[in-house]
Amino acid sequence: MRLIFMGPPGVGKGTQAKRYSARHHIPKISTGDILREAVLKKTPLGLQAKSFMDSGKLVPDDVVIGIIRERLKEPDCKDGFILDGFPRTVPQAAALKAMLEANRLGIDRVLNFELPEDELIRRLSGRRSCPNCQSVFHVEFSPPRERDRCDACGEKLVQRQDDLPETVRKRQEVYQSQTRPLVRLYEAQNILSRIDGSGDPETVYRRVEGSTGS
Ligand code: AMP
Repeated sequence: MRLIFMGPPGVGKGTQAKRYSARHHIPKISTGDILREAVLKKTPLGLQAKSFMDSGKLVPDDVVIGIIRERLKEPDCKDGFILDGFPRTVPQAAALKAMLEANRLGIDRVLNFELPEDELIRRLSGRRSCPNCQSVFHVEFSPPRERDRCDACGEKLVQRQDDLPETVRKRQEVYQSQTRPLVRLYEAQNILSRIDGSGDPETVYRRVEGSTGS
């Protein structure tokens, strides 16, 4: 299966993509994770992306398209993948289509996760992330076993710069203006499934499995 998980920041698509990836043994490819890692390592890509990310803006299309182009060439993508957070603009969607078509491939399904905006803000502002292994927790909904410590690696959890209130609002605006138009685009291709993102991760995951026919 070649899947796209789409939806506004905070909707939980990364959590769902992670589960789907583990269950179906296909890689989850998150441009956000790749960019964050580059920022941490201070690579040229990271230095270029940091200011966009910190202010809640999108990193330029040619940069993220380049990342995906290289990543999809890896052998683990041969039997499918989940794109989490890509494409986010119409040009990114067009580039993805061209990349896949060059290999006579296409996207099987796009899952669009939905949630009211006030709930998105609540989810994002309580989010705490591990700067080491990128695990994600929530002070209210999925607290770590030990306060402010990552369950997976023990690192001290942080609030991502882009989860701060001002940036959270900016990211929602960017989503509405730049990414939301893709819903129509994939709907017109009859490959879009709308997923209600409310409820606990288990409940949402059942909807995911239902919509991918697994
Ligand atoms: P995410 O974790 O997916 O919300 O991504 C965090 C940040 O990385 C976003 O706010 C953007 O600045 C950047 N980013 C991630 N994916 C993309 C993309 N497909 N296009 C442009 N910027 C992206």
